[in-house]
Amino acid sequence: MTRSNRQSPILFTLCLVAAVRAAAADRLDTKTVDFAVTFRGDTSAYRDTSAFVLPSETVTFDAVGGPPGDYTLTTDHGVAVQQGSRRWRFTAPPRPGLYTLKLDGPGKKDSMALHVFAMGAASAVRKGLLNGYPIGQYPSKPLNGNPIYMPPRGYVEVTKENQDTKVSPHFALKQFVCKEDTTQKYPKYVVLQERLLLKLEAILERVNRLGFEVDTLHVMSGYRTPYYNHAIGDVKYSMHQFGSASDIYVDPHKDDRMVDVNHDGRVDIGDSRFLYDIIESMLAEPSYRKFEGGMGFYPATAAHPPFVHVDVRGTRARWKG
Ligand SMILES: [Zn+2]
Repeated sequence: MTRSNRQSPILFTLCLVAAVRAAAADRLDTKTVDFAVTFRGDTSAYRDTSAFVLPSETVTFDAVGGPPGDYTLTTDHGVAVQQGSRRWRFTAPPRPGLYTLKLDGPGKKDSMALHVFAMGAASAVRKGLLNGYPIGQYPSKPLNGNPIYMPPRGYVEVTKENQDTKVSPHFALKQFVCKEDTTQKYPKYVVLQERLLLKLEAILERVNRLGFEVDTLHVMSGYRTPYYNHAIGDVKYSMHQFGSASDIYVDPHKDDRMVDVNHDGRVDIGDSRFLYDIIESMLAEPSYRKFEGGMGFYPATAAHPPFVHVDVRGTRARWKG
């Protein structure tokens, strides 16, 4: 074997690694299936999709798009009644908990896990406490009578066992737990809107397309209990209290720092502005209009890096923090 022949497999491997890296940099594995599921006005093609319901509540799931053929929904819990070739009415079990449904495409070539969280009812909150966890008091009247400001119907119980559940392919349940609670005590409680998760996945895909290789976004603040929201002096009707908002930044090294997304050699409000502009251009595309909501960009402080607030209130609001 000549010297050059011995080297060529190494060269080949190096080229392959470079090619794989380049591909990864501009394309995240979105972890989608070749069909989608529609429920309560949202559509998801993610392999891990979540629905937040009350015990015994019924939700209709429709499989949409995808190849022709037989679609099946299976579950070991609750009752799923097929109502058409691609429609099921699923009734959650009467007890709170996490129940997983499997939605298979034709020939079971592709399948989606539907994580149905049957929440504990809000009526279990007594004097601002839920099972010892400080929730606080929601405003007694929704702002301008708008139902998005209604107190939550229920709370997702977060346990040591379920906290790592992927509520969507790139986000875990524990990322949304109120940051005020740094104790190791469980259970904790969270409120989360399905549409927020879909929006965060879309933003993550955008960020990767720009060349930042990240498998999640840093959620600096997700759900906030009214108790905590009041303590930090945020506005009375903050969307964080309704599970509709997240404060995010891009943290590829997972060291609680925003990366220099605008490549100007420093990390400052220019980077949160840059991320904000990326999201703004995404929201301008017709397929993302349903993710419209509030958005603001913020400077760094001693306590946190620059970040962007996004929410899914449904109407457009913009600000600079
Ligand atoms: Zn926020």
